[in-house]
Amino acid sequence: MCSPLDAREDRLRPLRTCVGCGRRRGKRELARLVLTEGRGVLLDRKGKSPGRGVYLCFEAQCLETADKRRAVERSLRISLTPDQRQLLKQEVMEFIIRMNEGDPMH
Ligand SMILES: [Zn+2]
Repeated sequence: MCSPLDAREDRLRPLRTCVGCGRRRGKRELARLVLTEGRGVLLDRKGKSPGRGVYLCFEAQCLETADKRRAVERSLRISLTPDQRQLLKQEVMEFIIRMNEGDPMH
């Protein structure tokens, strides 16, 4: 699971912590959610939107855990309505599934 190449790359790139499982990974291995001004929390598909962000592995389990703990809201110090939370979760779930489909390792 952790090849020597991965370990070497880890030292060269910034690591981010998944709010679901707490593992640290490279930015490209994580989905980023960003708190925008006026538009609430959005999935940052390109990882470049300005603003405070939180990260999640491309794993449904991490999303579930984060959702249960309201980890995204707590990290960003905001509160979402149940509708907003549901929409966000759905969007991230679809993104995770697509990322995993596009990855030949899965
Ligand atoms: Zn995770």
